[in-house]
Amino acid sequence: MASTSELYDDLVDEWRKGTLLASCSAQLSWDEQTYLPPGGVSHRSEQLSLLAGMVHDRFTSPHLGELISELEQHGDLGEADGPRRANLREARRRYDRATKLPKKLVEEMSRVTSLAQHNWVEARKKSNFETFRPWLEKVVGLKREEAAALGNGSGVPYDALLDDYEPGAKTADVAGVFAGLRKDLVPLVQAIHNSKTKPNASILTRRYPKDAQRTFARAAASAIGFRFDEGRLDESAHPFCSGIGPGDCRLTTRYDERHFPGAFFGVLHEAGHGIYEQGLDRSAYGTPIGDAASLGVHESQSRMWENFVGRSRAFWTQFYPQAQTTFPEALNGVGADDFYAAVNDVRPSFIRVEADEVTYNLHIMIRFEMEQRLIAGDLKPAEVPAAWNAAYTASLGITPPDDAQGCLQDVHWSAGLLGYFPTYALGNMYAAQLFETARKALGDLDALFAKGDFTPLREWLNAHVHRYGRQFPPSRLVERITGQPLSHRPLVSHLKTKFEAIYRL
Ligand code: ZN
Repeated sequence: MASTSELYDDLVDEWRKGTLLASCSAQLSWDEQTYLPPGGVSHRSEQLSLLAGMVHDRFTSPHLGELISELEQHGDLGEADGPRRANLREARRRYDRATKLPKKLVEEMSRVTSLAQHNWVEARKKSNFETFRPWLEKVVGLKREEAAALGNGSGVPYDALLDDYEPGAKTADVAGVFAGLRKDLVPLVQAIHNSKTKPNASILTRRYPKDAQRTFARAAASAIGFRFDEGRLDESAHPFCSGIGPGDCRLTTRYDERHFPGAFFGVLHEAGHGIYEQGLDRSAYGTPIGDAASLGVHESQSRMWENFVGRSRAFWTQFYPQAQTTFPEALNGVGADDFYAAVNDVRPSFIRVEADEVTYNLHIMIRFEMEQRLIAGDLKPAEVPAAWNAAYTASLGITPPDDAQGCLQDVHWSAGLLGYFPTYALGNMYAAQLFETARKALGDLDALFAKGDFTPLREWLNAHVHRYGRQFPPSRLVERITGQPLSHRPLVSHLKTKFEAIYRL
């Protein structure tokens, strides 16, 4: 009989090959969204579908299943919290998940979502939901099949989809935390709305030349610690970060010469994801715990750098003089305090990725509720535009004038990423809780940011979050670091302190 260490090495070796194969898909997907000529779309969807099937075969192979079972029965893999036991736990979780999904469904999902994304790009450009509707119907149909196949026994099909992005999270728990958050956010939004202090946000829609935006955003990403010798920044319809593998992490953004925050804070956001990817333990690459802990934890990193750092007064103490030199036409005669207030302007808006810190979470709650209804079959894809607009009117008091600024704005549904949205708001709450703890540990972070020193925060995150990968489930990881289970309170306290000062409440 093979020894524990032989079995374990075999498991890791198998997993690593599967991970390498999956990283080829990631590379092709990146290319698809950045440089692929339109004529290559159909061929690319076949490549990706073939690879998705091959990856699925690897992660569902009977040999892998036997290794996991044998290690569970006979293996002594050391302490409960240690990386070897965690690898086995995570391998079991993902193996069970993968074997529940028929290969045909996996391949079809890959093929359909690849084509659907291209149709979404076109539909969004023309703000024409009707051309996208058949694709949304296909994707939602496949996701409902997926949820049924995974059937995790809770009786809530959405749980199965959510679990893919946030291991262990339950729809009802998330809804509970969101309800608490909403209760505190709504009066804050109202108080801000009633305030006589109004930032002059029109500063940000003056002309910001694209090349200058690119240079400035790159410099900021580099300053907070994203390493360009192991990364790139390109353009795509929807900004994203793709950690292809060790030493290769790619960010994208989109530029609008008449809207400074879109690309700038978008790049800080994606760089935050990138810093997490670059901070993963390289020696764990390809093992089950070699990935980021969850999408919620991933998002906590991007939102922390984007908002808690990038939209702080201290950050602009360092960067505003450079901004004025880079964009003289837009910023001559504008004071740093006015600029700081402008990038923190709070007002209900249509586009999630451009929303302020306070209203952002309301955008997420709308999507979270709609997705649950789509998956339950209570809402038909054809009804999405009307339902979307009604939800915005009820929740934010504004009605999107067209679908490009409404239900067509996000890539997620075309890409089959249903269950993903709630992780953004979870990420905001994780970010606030982690940042509160980092502040206690590191002292006056503002003084450091004002000097352009972001290294202590980045190293603290490296040491407490990044290097562990998936060794701990997300809720445990955060509780271990902060001493508290996830709560909406640190986020609310951050938002109140910051915006009561800006709006003189
Ligand atoms: Zn993100």
